[in-house]
Amino acid sequence: MKKALVSSKKSHATFLYIPENQSSVRSVRMPIWGPKVLACILGALIIYSSFSAYAINHLKFQYETSKKDIRALTEINNSQKAEIECLNLNAQKIQMQLEQNIAALEEVKAAVGLKDKASEETKITKAPITVSQATDKNIALPFVSGNSYDLSAELSSLQTSLLSLSKKTMNQKTEIDKSVASIKDRLDYLRCVPSIAPVVAKITAGYGYRRNPFTSRGSEFHDGIDFGAPYGTKVVATGDGVVLFAGYQSGYGRMVIISHGYGLTTSYSHNSSILVKKGDKVKRGQAISKVGSTGRSTGAHLHYEVKLNGKNVNPAKYF
Ligand SMILES: [Zn+2]
Repeated sequence: MKKALVSSKKSHATFLYIPENQSSVRSVRMPIWGPKVLACILGALIIYSSFSAYAINHLKFQYETSKKDIRALTEINNSQKAEIECLNLNAQKIQMQLEQNIAALEEVKAAVGLKDKASEETKITKAPITVSQATDKNIALPFVSGNSYDLSAELSSLQTSLLSLSKKTMNQKTEIDKSVASIKDRLDYLRCVPSIAPVVAKITAGYGYRRNPFTSRGSEFHDGIDFGAPYGTKVVATGDGVVLFAGYQSGYGRMVIISHGYGLTTSYSHNSSILVKKGDKVKRGQAISKVGSTGRSTGAHLHYEVKLNGKNVNPAKYF
């Protein structure tokens, strides 16, 4: 095929199409600027195609990058979900531990005879701390199913739970500190208060009015308890305390007086010998003297007295 350009007038040009197989010649007449316009359109199309190809490639690249990002984000999302589950589990464990601590504390207080209303007020509530949505494995992840799923709500809920636990722990610490102080006081009192018999022997005279053992006439007030024990039997302190007096006292013979604090004193009289001295710290059960018959006594025995705030009380209440 051949193409020919024939100029007819100054403002127009004619294109001739002359086939080689001798069929008729065809011509196209157009303004002189026609080829230029066609060339411009062609050029514009080429540029547009190039830009389109570039844009498509760029979008493809972005799509591939996004896919990678989505996979990475999904992995992070799964990892955060597992982390939330773990934290939630730990929060529940801490909650249980707090409850067990309070229960143990209550047991200790009950064992030492302490009842504290404050502990009831600050008792840990048994409301479970859960971030159920976060731990629900059936929840679809966003990039897998297309559903919107945001971990921030679960994280916020968990944060609130942990904050609540933190407050409860602080409250419990305060409660435990108060309780420990009162338990220590109580244990100290229990260590000191007279609570055993001073000697292993039978009671030969109780507390209160009795016939005068010396004249067998009339009655007298017996302000202690007599234990009829053999000469030399070991006499022990009935509670922790400090020796106030250890020596001879008219009527009481060889005598030991112990101060136990809390307004309580005990005295042990008619001993044959004394094993402690004034100012000694003694423990419950510690030997302090030996049974004898010194002072106003009719035979070997221990006269045991308990005083509360300076007044005699029945020692039988203290063992
Ligand atoms: Zn007596």
